[in-house]
Parts: sequence; structure tokens; C-alpha cells
Amino acid sequence: MRQKAPIGICVAIAAALAGSQAHTAEMKVTLLGTGTPTPRLTSFSASTLVEAGNQRLLFDLGRGVTIRLFQKRIPLGSINAHFLTHLHSDHVVGLPDIWLSGWIGTPWASRKAPFTLFGPVGTTAMMENLTKAFADDIRIRSDDEHLPAAGIAFAAKDIAAGVAYTADGVTVTAFDVNHGEKIKPSFGYVVTFEGKKVVLSGDTKYDERVVAAAKDADLLIHEVAIIEPELVKDYPSYREIEAHHTSPEEAGRVFDQARPKLAVYSHIVSATVKPVQDVPEETLRQRTETTYKGPFVIGRDLTSFTIDDKGVTAVRGDGSAITPNNAQ
Ligand SMILES: [Zn+2]
Ligand SMILES: [Zn+2]
Repeated sequence: MRQKAPIGICVAIAAALAGSQAHTAEMKVTLLGTGTPTPRLTSFSASTLVEAGNQRLLFDLGRGVTIRLFQKRIPLGSINAHFLTHLHSDHVVGLPDIWLSGWIGTPWASRKAPFTLFGPVGTTAMMENLTKAFADDIRIRSDDEHLPAAGIAFAAKDIAAGVAYTADGVTVTAFDVNHGEKIKPSFGYVVTFEGKKVVLSGDTKYDERVVAAAKDADLLIHEVAIIEPELVKDYPSYREIEAHHTSPEEAGRVFDQARPKLAVYSHIVSATVKPVQDVPEETLRQRTETTYKGPFVIGRDLTSFTIDDKGVTAVRGDGSAITPNNAQ
């Protein structure tokens, strides 16, 4: 026989439900890779996780994306959709890893539905070619481990600027950015959920379209590059690399014009004559502050952000709280 719950318990349950609703309305962003092709242990190449509602979305699939997800105890097979900003290798070398490893029948993988991927023209061809390149692994694991065929299938789409994806109240919109004449298209992304907005610049030079996209944003994640001038002498391709990216002073201008609640650096190009293991942050901070006096954080791998009705809070991967530079 059903018993009527005492009123006190009903109130407690209602409060808990209200609490859980507030919880699900938040967005969480985790920088999985804040680096570039430089093979640093502390900053893997580009990848950002956005969690909102029941959605887990990945933006770029750089080196080590699977390792960082494993550190976060997020199963590789649980990502709802993957997005590429452009096809430079530091944004896609982790793609075969998460696609193939995410299919394996384990507690940390076990994808059973097709791998969903959006990106610029060339994205679908890449998946078709990867399927050929890894045909033996796919055949062997299908026959031997009896993994489901659906889990290694892919649903890829070459997209143009505009709304790319909507699910459970989350909308992902791609916009064009200027990563140089020969790297087109190259996208930034806007992710919105329950009145909250996260903007990723992708790889870009100073571009007013990023400013426009990031107006009223809670979080703007922007790339940045510092290249020591002497490097160009022996490695002339750094001239092109520098021309494709944003300097700290220019990024500061973007932040100043867009005025997001919090600005964040990720995809930090840091090229020094003498290669160093960790990104030197002090120069980056000082040069940014010449053009921007608002709050910003220099991202490190596994730095994460929670966006809720109270604002944006940031923590490092070890759980320590971050006070942004210039926080009021
Ligand atoms: Zn690039
Ligand atoms: Zn890049």
C-alpha cells in the first residue's frame, strides 16, 4: 500500500529537484588541450569539452584528447558530437584515436552509435579515408571482439557558417574567422544554452567577427601567439605561422571590444629560440594587459569553467580555484 509522504519530506524533495534543475542549467567548459603542434607534456594540442544539459560536445580533436578525457573519467564513447574548427593537424591528430579507441568495449569507451562529426569541407573525406587506413583494425575488432558495427560508423558533415547542431536546448553555430588566405574555411563556434553563451575563436588573426560573436558572451576562449623574432632567421616558416595568429595585444583588443564576462587563452603558440617545456605565462599576461584591463585567465590543460546564473567560476585541473587576472 502506498503511503503518503510527510509534508517535510515533500518540501525536501521539491528543494532537491529545484536544486538539480539549477544544476542542469549550468554550462561547463574544460580545456583538454591548450597547446599547438609543440609536443609539450603539459599542453596537448587543441581540444575543448563543453557540457550542457545532457550534451557532451568536443571542439577540435588534438593530440591527447583521449588521455585528458580519461583523466576526467569521461568515457570516450559518451561524446554526443564532435566539431572541427579547421583541418590543421594540431586540431585533428586525436581524431583517429578517439574514433577508434572510443569504440572498444570497455568502461572508458564503448561507443555504440555512429561517430558524429562536423567540420569544414574535407571533414567527410577525412573520415572516409581514415576508414580505409584503419580497415584492418576495424575488420579485426569486428570479427574478434564482436564490437558493434554502428559504433565505428560515422555521421560526418561538411558545414558552412551557420547553425551546425541543436540538441536538448544546446545550439552550436559556426562562424568564419580569418586564419589566412590559404586556410579557408576556418571556423569559430558559438555554443548557447539556457541564456548562456560560450565562444571559441578557433585559429584566427585579429578578427572583428570574433568580437561580434563574443558580445554578451559568458566565456570567450581565444587563441594567442608569441613567437620570438630571432626564430624566423633559421626557421622562416614562423613568419607565416605568426601571420596566421593573434598577438597578445590584439587579443587584448578583442577582449576589450567584446567584453565577455571572462576571457580565456587556449591554443597558446609559444615559440622560443630555446624550446621550453612549459608555456611562459608572465610575458603573455603583461602584453595582454597593455590593451585589456578586464578579467582573463591563461588556460592550462584541464582548467575548467562553470557558468551558472551567478557568473563564471574557474578552477585548475587539480581543483584549485583561479582568481582571474584583473578580477574586480
Ligand atoms: Zn591552424
Ligand atoms: Zn592550431
